[in-house]
Amino acid sequence: MKVVKFGGSSLASGVQVEKVFNIVTADPDRKVVVVSAPGKRYPDDIKVTDLLIACAEQVLETGDGGEYFDTVIQRYTSIANELGLSNEIIEIISDDLLKLLADRSKDSAHFIESVKASGEDNNAKLVAAYFKSRGLEAEYVNPKEAGLLVSDEPGSAQVLPEAYDSLYELRKRSGILVIPGFFGYTEKGDIVTFSRSGSDITGSILANGVKADVYENFTDVNAVCSVNPGIVENPKEIRELTYREMRELSYAGFSVFHDEALMPAFHAGIPVHVRNTNNPDAPGTRIVSERKNTNGPVVGIASDKGFCSIYVSKYLMNREIGFGRKLLQILEEYQLSYEHLPSGIDDISIILRQDQMSFLFEKEILQRIKNELEADEVKIQHNLSLIMVVGEGMRCNVGTMSRAAKALATSGVNIEMINQGSSEVSMMFGVKEADENRAVQSLYNEFFARVIA
Ligand code: ASP
Repeated sequence: MKVVKFGGSSLASGVQVEKVFNIVTADPDRKVVVVSAPGKRYPDDIKVTDLLIACAEQVLETGDGGEYFDTVIQRYTSIANELGLSNEIIEIISDDLLKLLADRSKDSAHFIESVKASGEDNNAKLVAAYFKSRGLEAEYVNPKEAGLLVSDEPGSAQVLPEAYDSLYELRKRSGILVIPGFFGYTEKGDIVTFSRSGSDITGSILANGVKADVYENFTDVNAVCSVNPGIVENPKEIRELTYREMRELSYAGFSVFHDEALMPAFHAGIPVHVRNTNNPDAPGTRIVSERKNTNGPVVGIASDKGFCSIYVSKYLMNREIGFGRKLLQILEEYQLSYEHLPSGIDDISIILRQDQMSFLFEKEILQRIKNELEADEVKIQHNLSLIMVVGEGMRCNVGTMSRAAKALATSGVNIEMINQGSSEVSMMFGVKEADENRAVQSLYNEFFARVIA
């Protein structure tokens, strides 16, 4: 049995939904179909999820969803018309959204959640109606009915372990099950969503739940590339990756597959196959537990902007018991999460995503660290990019760090910091944002271009 997930761009128009139909019917093992809300048809288009969020916020502010409601309904109507579906499905969708918008029994956060999740929910109804109209045995299944229980954390729900037993029961059902991605239900019965792009997470949970043989994740690229194609032209495609490699790459800017979506598939040992709806014959990328062949130590290079580093130095820090705890305690009080923590004998740097901090409380934090920890020096550096060089092959390969450092030096990039050794499959370089593209290009040339030549 295969669980197949289609992203928003794969469902953005009638033409796209027809491609989805062809893919699903091409393989009788494709039994569970997870859908996103309609995404962008062209670069400046607006995703239905974003329209719904704006709609819910406007209703909370003014009591009226206005144009946003109409635009959402128009998106579904144009897809239904292209597919030759009757108006009945649009009435179902429109009634559902009106009901959600009129329901004032919830607090604001849960109200927004239920409206936001309706993008996927109503799209699943539409896709199921289309499949049926083409003579397929297919039905829409709501996540509540399927037993997809999640924690009550709006916008970042986590699946509850007890969900898996109920999901296994889906195996018994006949025909194709069309299930909306992106959300589940709390024990109290509220709708709560995963983080953005979370339909990938639903697919992975369902793959684990029904113990699928494979989780196929259909998107709009032929494969996961070894580097961001926006930085390096025509990069090498990756055929096979381990879960750990994918996790490291998707964490640092590889948006092809949600970084939280790997865990459920990984726990059940289910391979994830990233494929292209617009080119289903392309081999895609498989994400697996172990891969045998490596063509070199590095499988991919990822990078992301928007980091800052708080540098703290204090003479004899290495002997002071509890220094790290007190430092992290201050961050915790401000609800800050950190990404890396490279340290020396008398100094330590904390790397964080800078959008978590406002200027005001940044000053306050630095002051508190200086005073409460009696630090000699505390300073912050902004606008850093982190570059992750990832590959299982690095473990048993001598000289990868020296090749990377040499490539960066040759292209004139100053390395602001390095974190190597804490992960077995990656090394991290911090560089100034302005140097990011040059750094990535030089690393790519070192590890990939030369291999091809
Ligand atoms: N539609 C949701 C979003 O835009 C979830 C998804 O597409 O996976 O984030």
